[in-house]
Amino acid sequence: MTNIVSTRVAILGSGPAGLSAAIYAARAGLAPVVIQGIQPGGQLTTTTDVENYPGFRDVIQGPWLMEEMQAQAEHVGTKMVWDYIVDVDLSRRPFRLQGDSGTVYSCDTLVIATGAQAKWLGLPSEEMMKGKGASACATCDGFFYRGKKVAVIGGGNTAVEEALYLTNHSHDVTLIHRRDTLRAERILQDRLFAHPNVKVIWNHEVAEFVGGGQPEALVGLDLRDTRTGAITRIDVDGAFVAIGHKPATELFQGKIKLDEDGYIEVVTGTTRTNVEGVFACGDVMDKVYRQAVTAAGTGCMAALDVERFLAAQEYEALAAE
Ligand SMILES: Cc1cc2nc3c(=O)[nH]c(=O)nc-3n(C[C@H](O)[C@H](O)[C@H](O)COP(=O)(O)OP(=O)(O)OC[C@H]3O[C@@H](n4cnc5c(N)ncnc54)[C@H](O)[C@@H]3O)c2cc1C
Repeated sequence: MTNIVSTRVAILGSGPAGLSAAIYAARAGLAPVVIQGIQPGGQLTTTTDVENYPGFRDVIQGPWLMEEMQAQAEHVGTKMVWDYIVDVDLSRRPFRLQGDSGTVYSCDTLVIATGAQAKWLGLPSEEMMKGKGASACATCDGFFYRGKKVAVIGGGNTAVEEALYLTNHSHDVTLIHRRDTLRAERILQDRLFAHPNVKVIWNHEVAEFVGGGQPEALVGLDLRDTRTGAITRIDVDGAFVAIGHKPATELFQGKIKLDEDGYIEVVTGTTRTNVEGVFACGDVMDKVYRQAVTAAGTGCMAALDVERFLAAQEYEALAAE
């Protein structure tokens, strides 16, 4: 027999967005169910030092922050379940979510907080250097490279924005691009080329991230000339991969309105999607800011939107009696 879990609010995802939505929904008496997915705690569990989440004078650890957020959500009445959603039926309410475990979740409202994953180059040496000099977020980690040499890999808007952002911390920023022109908007390119602390290495791709020292940290990048195959080494302390993000929205294709990059579209200033009763928060609907605190902020908004939606539904039902 199929196990069915029914709830007024199902929250898909347990990163800062999902857990913040849970805290607010639980405190509104809605007894939310959070379905955690394969990355309980979300992206911050993959990092170490977090220095920009408000409320902490000292550097905190990403996994610790997410454990605290989960404990807070549970403390105020959230039910956490470990499952991964493989299919959704949003054609009528209550919505139905099919869990990988076989459990079906039936919910009056759904908050989607499935996040977005940064794209990496996929090199084993890159994997080894994550957290030791290789990063996919200049806003998150740029501060740790004050006065040091950094490189940005990519050629689109994100790469150019990351390079310009890093000039706040470093006087030696190198943009590495495998082609001889950038895809970024003209105005960003103009700013980049005009900046005295940025240089561009054209027609090169990263062949290896090079570690050294004790404890081991990034000391350089081996670059391959995309025209000749020749390898040269540059010295850098930090390398920021900026080749885009992939929102976790495969489940919702054809079921919810997505933008041209696959992010969930919401009504401006709200977390409402085009499907009544479905709300989206965090990186899955935000391709601009992508920070833990902005994810938490929109998570709060989603819970408030849910609460108002349910209250309006109840009022209409009463008025119809
Ligand atoms: C290495 C690294 C360092 C970072 N450092 C910082 C920092 O210092 N400061 C900062 O503010 N931000 C930082 N960020 C960015 C920050 O982590 C993200 O902006 C934030 O985590 C987004 O939160 P979210 O809740 O929207 O999504 P996520 O954190 O991505 O969480 C998504 C959740 O959805 C779940 N999920 C996905 N698909 C399914 C499914 N089908 N079924 C069920 N669950 C599902 C996942 O398991 C996960 O729990 C960093 C990111 C990375 C990768």
